[in-house]
Amino acid sequence: MSSRPTDAIQRRRSVPVTIGGIAVGGDAPIRVQSMTNTDTADIDSTVTQCAELARAGSEFVRITVNNETAAAAVPRIRERLDAMGVGVPLIGDFHFNGHRLLSDYPACAEALAKYRINPGNVGRGEKRDSQFATMIEIACRYDRPVRIGVNWGSLDQELVVRMMDANARSAAPKEADVVMREAMVESAVGSAERAEALGLPRDHIILSCKMSGVQDLIAVYRMLAERTDHALHLGLTEAGMGSKGIVASTAALAVLLQEGIGDTIRVSLTPAPGEPRTREVVVAQEVLQTMGLRPFAPMVTACPGCGRTTSTVFQELAEEIQGYLREQMPVWRETHPGVETMQVAVMGCVVNGPGESKQANIGISLPGTGEQPSAPVYIDGQKVTTLKGAGIAERFKDMVNAYVAEHYPAHDG
Ligand code: SF4
Repeated sequence: MSSRPTDAIQRRRSVPVTIGGIAVGGDAPIRVQSMTNTDTADIDSTVTQCAELARAGSEFVRITVNNETAAAAVPRIRERLDAMGVGVPLIGDFHFNGHRLLSDYPACAEALAKYRINPGNVGRGEKRDSQFATMIEIACRYDRPVRIGVNWGSLDQELVVRMMDANARSAAPKEADVVMREAMVESAVGSAERAEALGLPRDHIILSCKMSGVQDLIAVYRMLAERTDHALHLGLTEAGMGSKGIVASTAALAVLLQEGIGDTIRVSLTPAPGEPRTREVVVAQEVLQTMGLRPFAPMVTACPGCGRTTSTVFQELAEEIQGYLREQMPVWRETHPGVETMQVAVMGCVVNGPGESKQANIGISLPGTGEQPSAPVYIDGQKVTTLKGAGIAERFKDMVNAYVAEHYPAHDG
């Protein structure tokens, strides 16, 4: 079959962290997370989107906790999700006032499985250390892990000025962008050291240094991976919309993942109006799956089409089958273990159709222009039948279902 070997990828050893009962880092699979874009105070919308993201396969969902109304809403969001049977751990995203919200809303602190702290937005001057300490003390009290999440757009300016000054005085000053990258790493590693000194266990800390430039992100994470063994969350920040956001995120993540760097990922896409938020989850899963790092859902191999096929039948069938397989996954994940590794091929004509279909678990080679109106179907490399006439799509889908039922049997009970 066409699953790709991953032996060449040696994962960097990181300190494992448990978030809401789910392991991250160490030997755990690379996790996918996402973030809502609803107003957290709008409980209905936030619950709905958290559930959608979780059902799409997001293993953690981050929600912003930006004011008192949002902090008060968090435990109610947790309760509502639990009542729906959606146990996805919620991560609170805090900036500027996190120390106060976590102190004043203990039920919020309790309901969250992890706190994200941005060291650049934790306070200025003298207040910074005490406000950071308050958040860490609360994390210790509730036994919650934290992500120290540095962001290029909100990097601690006092640290930057200090490092720039020191660089200017040095015998061989570095380029300013090199110093900025070093400041990102210093902010993350230094904050982690402070958190540990305040009593937060090492296995309760995840680091991230998000940037919007692909080369910057790669350079910074390589430095981070050299300097620390904390688990790392990867993501390009402000990746952008549409194909640009997907390509930029994939380019950055793929290089780092190939080097074994990264324990959780998020693809921060800007959704087009009307586009589902779950797109970022699907893209993150597809990055990991196409690299052979972790399967999530059966994948459809489809040819791009060319002048040999002038109908859209095979594109429609490929899209329909991929959509159908994804829709089944919330149930199949439980009932048909292993189905996520299944490969399906939907090909446009006789040139590559039979060959590619034979490589899949189940594949169909549709007729190109001028070919006999018949579609051979291959199962595990063997031609088993030829579909003809109306309803080829439905009959192929039935065969896919039968393959799943036979090869990935349901769990007892
Ligand atoms: S399989 Fe046939 S239709 Fe598809 S790209 Fe190749 S030659 Fe074109």
